[in-house]
Amino acid sequence: MRPLIAGNWKMHGLSSQLAEIEAIAASVKLRPTHADVLVCLPATLIARASSLAAGRIAIGAQNCHSEISGAFTGDISAEMLRDAGANTVILGHSERRQHHGETDAVVAKKVEAASRAGLLAIICIGETQLQRKDGKALAVCGNQIAASLPDSMSMSVNAVGYEPLWAIGSGQEPTPDEIVEMHEHIRECLVSRLGTRGRTIRILFGGSVNPDNARAILALPEVDGALVGGASLKATDFAAIIGVVPAEP
Ligand code: PEP
Repeated sequence: MRPLIAGNWKMHGLSSQLAEIEAIAASVKLRPTHADVLVCLPATLIARASSLAAGRIAIGAQNCHSEISGAFTGDISAEMLRDAGANTVILGHSERRQHHGETDAVVAKKVEAASRAGLLAIICIGETQLQRKDGKALAVCGNQIAASLPDSMSMSVNAVGYEPLWAIGSGQEPTPDEIVEMHEHIRECLVSRLGTRGRTIRILFGGSVNPDNARAILALPEVDGALVGGASLKATDFAAIIGVVPAEP
């Protein structure tokens, strides 16, 4: 499967940082890669970034509302993101689940909205440190997948992002065996839910991925790419992670 290297800028980025997007796009132009490259930005930067990216890298968003439009002050619909130039949206990131009370059911509605608008969705799941310690990690993530995927078969899920909560921004990461065990479990869940289509959905690993550990993580079975937070903010770091994927012949 063609890998996906996706950046998540979270609530970082002013106009001055658009130079990083230009630099990431330039690095992909210089060394065409056998990966899809995506940067999910604050909504305020999407339109300008997508014109700077000039199709060399994709631009995405980090959340959307489930309705098309309406009296939802401060919210942004999937259609608006698409209109601004996004082609993907991250949904169910643990920071949204934690700070905005997003449940699996809310995430499922947003995935439907993304499909309706023609956006690809990256659905994030992951366990807490306590859940892992208690031996519940596989069950927690399996349940999140079951409940965060909508029933509609027309959904356009690009990827599932496995992001153990305790690995995000912490510099900690699971062992390679733990990553493989979880990614294989996620694959089984996707196939049992979606049949052969479940084999076409990428499973990304996220949690403190950086230029030093990316090669080892991306080489693991069932790891189809990475979701990168902190290390996507600097073009040099993000380009180094992209550089782990072989260049296009
Ligand atoms: C993320 O927020 O999706 C993430 C993986 O962050 P970091 O790479 O900084 O751990």
